[in-house]
Formats: sequence, structure tokens, C-alpha cells
Amino acid sequence: MITVNITRSEATCWCPLCGIQNVTDTAEINECEHFEGLISMNEFVEGDKNGILNEAYEAAYNLQTFNEEFDGTDEEYREAYVEACKKHNVNPDQQNISAKDILESKLNDHYVLFYMGSWAPNPSEGIYLYNLQTAAEE
Ligand SMILES: [Zn+2]
Repeated sequence: MITVNITRSEATCWCPLCGIQNVTDTAEINECEHFEGLISMNEFVEGDKNGILNEAYEAAYNLQTFNEEFDGTDEEYREAYVEACKKHNVNPDQQNISAKDILESKLNDHYVLFYMGSWAPNPSEGIYLYNLQTAAEE
């Protein structure tokens, strides 16, 4: 997966291939064949056409919960966590594994993720996923 980091606070997003505005300034979603969907504020999955974002979001959530419940001493628990991380190809020593980390380890370079965010006073964060090689172009 190719990741492009963009610093800005607007939620709007345009498809890099066909130019459709996939996310309007009122957060409406317009589909195109390339847009897979988005995750806003690491919390809300929108327009997830093929279920890729929900799957990554849930995997990250489960790993975070798993890790939070670890008391730091139970070796079997730690091993189970390391195994769960291996399944998703993410580093068990990393704190706060996100959906973005899961997607980065899972998707090939036919996918591009725009990671948009800005700092206070208007903090925002969104990941916008595109599949640049759709069935019509394969
Ligand atoms: Zn498009």
C-alpha cells in the first residue's frame, strides 16, 4: 500500500484517478469505482465498499483491547497477543496499533491511502482508501 500524508483539516477528498469529489464538505459520500471508503477520527467507518476498512478497524480494535487487558506478567497471555499480531503482520511491541497499521501490512501497492490530519486547535484525522486497479483496468 502506498501512503500519502497530508496536513489539513478539511474532510473533503477527491479521487486521484477520475476526479470525483468522494467526500464533500458536508461529509456526504460520492462513490466512484476507485474509492473504498474512509475512517474518520480513528472511530467512524464510512462508505466501506468492500468491507476492507471495517475489517482493519475491528482487527486494530481487538488488538488494542487485547493489549490493554495484559497485566504485564502473564507470559501465556503475552504469547497469545504476539500470535494475534503475527496474524496481522504488525509489531507486538508497538503501542496503539491502528487500522492504518493493519492496512499497511495487508494491502499491496494497487491501494493508496491518504492520511489527512491537522493539529490543535482543529484536530482532525482521516484515512481515505483508494483501489487504483479496479476490475475494469486489470
Ligand atoms: Zn475514481
